Amino acid sequence: MNNSTNITTTTTVKDINDPITIDKDINHSNSFDNDTTTTIVYNVFKDNFDKYTNLLKDDLIGASFISFDTEFSGLGYNKGFKLNDFQEKYQAFASVIKNRSIFEFGISIFKEIDHSRTGDSNNKRKLNQQTTTTTNNEHLYFITIYNFKLYNSNDFMISPNSMTFLVKHGFDFNQLFLNGIPYSNRNHKDIPMDSPCKRLLHILSASRLPLVVHNGIFDLLFIYSTFIYDLPDQLHDFIAKLLSFFPTIFDTKYISEFKISESKSFLEYLFNKYFRFNSSNKSRGQDYISCQVKYLNNVVPLESLINSNSSDFDNLIEICQDYSNHGYCKLNDTCPYSHNIDQILNIEEKKRSKKKSKKNKDKDNNIDNDSNNIDDNNNQQQILNDNNINLKKEMNIHSAGFDSVMTGFIFLHYKLLLKNSIMDSSNKIYISGKPIPLVLQVSKYTPFTSSDNNKVGTSK
Ligand SMILES: [Zn+2]
Repeated sequence: MNNSTNITTTTTVKDINDPITIDKDINHSNSFDNDTTTTIVYNVFKDNFDKYTNLLKDDLIGASFISFDTEFSGLGYNKGFKLNDFQEKYQAFASVIKNRSIFEFGISIFKEIDHSRTGDSNNKRKLNQQTTTTTNNEHLYFITIYNFKLYNSNDFMISPNSMTFLVKHGFDFNQLFLNGIPYSNRNHKDIPMDSPCKRLLHILSASRLPLVVHNGIFDLLFIYSTFIYDLPDQLHDFIAKLLSFFPTIFDTKYISEFKISESKSFLEYLFNKYFRFNSSNKSRGQDYISCQVKYLNNVVPLESLINSNSSDFDNLIEICQDYSNHGYCKLNDTCPYSHNIDQILNIEEKKRSKKKSKKNKDKDNNIDNDSNNIDDNNNQQQILNDNNINLKKEMNIHSAGFDSVMTGFIFLHYKLLLKNSIMDSSNKIYISGKPIPLVLQVSKYTPFTSSDNNKVGTSK
């Protein structure tokens, strides 16, 4: 394997042919790992904002879509969240958001690489060492990941739980408060148009690219109040202005619940499930997604960044049912049961293959995502382990940047599955507890429905 593209040796970021020199602030901004290992995420602070937003501008040219996620200071409890009417719910959301703060704005830019263009396949072979042969089944994407660290200059409320969670997962508040990108989420009329957040908004909006979120209503509200304007009183005003900046928005949680009917739809679960499914498709010669994460002049396969440690856990501890079903457990790290997503998926696969052998000739419905070849998965896993890096250490599994990568990958899976009909799912946002989505539409006010059920809301 060529050293310049092998993830285990990408400490040698500097290449003689590399026109971009790596300067100190890259290591400095890598909050969770201060040794010399490379990063694959652009951590954007006040002092490198100009440089990285210029790179971002270039990345947006010819891109397919942008996925994003936010980390914020928690939401606390508000009884208004339980209201049925969309307008009343919105007002409750908005009143909470106004007093809270976003800390991190993670975005991933996905760019499809066209195989048919001359030279691309050669280029691809050079960049993707794991793909030994070029096939027409490969849907190749380059991803660039940005983590904007945002410093709110207003007073705001925090939920201690959320802060503890962030700190436990490597979020560096020292860096944030010393070097975060300053912003105010109040009185937008007084904010100059050349403030960093306004500039970022206009760069993203000018691309007219689809935005992809997962369970994204709060992300969208935070984006609005941070970058666009003070949250208006009326839901339809919020929708109209949001769409004027971002005309096409997808919520993968909506697609998973309403189009795919997944029984579980939290982010980490869907990502890992579809990632396995994709690996299995690849080894069976079917259409599959291939993602390469780009950082400066390095390109690493996404699969080489995914750490699987299911063997450490297999059958040792029982899985936590709360976590398995909702991706959330109030006991967090103190829970005696396993929150390991690989273990959860292994158990599901075992159950499925048992069912399958019972049913004998019951044929697979091809829209279903069941990966029905466990051997393939094991082989694939072996390949992955051979070229492994611990993503949880490298990239911080709970960073907004990585969540945005997972969201984008889930979207690619749906794009492959639903093809053009995925457009039917645009501008429909999942709202916890509602049997219908919030439809983002300028002209119509989304009506209240009385046939509401009590679907339990889940975390991301
Ligand atoms: Zn638990």
